[in-house]
Amino acid sequence: MLVLVINCGSSSVKYNLIETEQESEVCRGIVERIGAVTSIIKHEPANDTKTKLTKFVANHSDALQEIMNYLLDESNEFIKSPDDIKAVGHRVVHGGEMFKDSVLIDDVVKDAIEQAFDLAPLHNPPNLKGIQAAEERLPNIPHVAVFDTAFHHSLPPHAYLYGIPNRLYRRHKIRRYGFHGTSHYYVSRQFYKLTDIPKNDTKVITCHLGNGASIAAIRGGDSVDTSMGFTPLSGMVMGTRSGDLDPSILFYIIEKEELQLNSLHSMLNRHSGLLGLSGYASDMRDLISEANNGDRRCQQAIDVFCYNIKKYVGSYMATLNGCDAILFTAGIGENSAYIRAKGLENLEGIGIELDKERNENVKPGEITKISTDSSSTEIYVVPTNEELVIAIDAAKIASASNQSPWV
Ligand code: AMP
Repeated sequence: MLVLVINCGSSSVKYNLIETEQESEVCRGIVERIGAVTSIIKHEPANDTKTKLTKFVANHSDALQEIMNYLLDESNEFIKSPDDIKAVGHRVVHGGEMFKDSVLIDDVVKDAIEQAFDLAPLHNPPNLKGIQAAEERLPNIPHVAVFDTAFHHSLPPHAYLYGIPNRLYRRHKIRRYGFHGTSHYYVSRQFYKLTDIPKNDTKVITCHLGNGASIAAIRGGDSVDTSMGFTPLSGMVMGTRSGDLDPSILFYIIEKEELQLNSLHSMLNRHSGLLGLSGYASDMRDLISEANNGDRRCQQAIDVFCYNIKKYVGSYMATLNGCDAILFTAGIGENSAYIRAKGLENLEGIGIELDKERNENVKPGEITKISTDSSSTEIYVVPTNEELVIAIDAAKIASASNQSPWV
């Protein structure tokens, strides 16, 4: 089944056209800088040359039209008519407590996504905008919402409750939700295909290390703890997000720097993390290269990031009472042997042994074992594919099939 996957940001629309039976991507692309004088439109067909053009794209609806025009263009031969697309899968970041699974989008679902605006102010509003734009351009096919939070609905109360008055949970649903659910789900399922251990007995730690980063503990296929919390701001230090802080720091900063709440929000989300620590960059490649040139603050930012990996892995080893495998994924997790090695260094005492040579010879896009043969916990690099999870869920719901492609 041909499914269009849409992931909308405040000024961008990313898309993937996916053939779900073959689990293959036909084309992907992005419209960026929507509303700016010159927007950038990129298309990357799986079997053809990439294209990039600049033109004014006023809003998300026009961006969707640009994408459809490209897919319908006769010379590209992706689709002959919009009806060839059988479902649209939308990435929605925050599903609150309501959505434990992906759902067919109707007015009630759209209202609920809107109610979660406060929980994910950077993500849910553009996600809803994308849904509305896509419904306008593709009105006759099912639209499905796939939530980043859904996979973590299996967290037990002792992992999702914060130590604040319980009425705040009951009244405002303040609790840990967790994010990157489609990625943690996908990479754990890739491991189940490799191992002889029955799924119900498996214990894995998944490390999604990209510009946003989160780590999850997964027992028997279910997420039982994860580093991100009420919002995607907490947990590990990230590209520009602070990760965990002592909450008292916020009162202190407000007083000392005379900050307004919105400036504090922006500081913690956009100017903290690796960027804030290094004062140089949020991008790990830039940090590594500058640290190699002797920049002390860039090296410190990397050290904090790697120590975060070690702390969460160690903590989730305790949560799971040992684990079968640690899985690295996303931009940094898949591509940086240095960060993987530094994040797991000196953990032999708890049965985690990285094989230096295997770690340094990972081929891009391939699942690779990087632990030594004597390591009691296996370690793998597993390329993630969140869009495929979204496409397959959308196909499943659109065709009302109960068949799940993965264990
Ligand atoms: P993502 O958000 O998953 O696209 O990941 C983006 C992050 O991956 C950025 O910080 C990149 O610098 C980082 N990244 C990509 N390739 C490499 C690499 N070869 N070495 C280190 N970091 C990388």
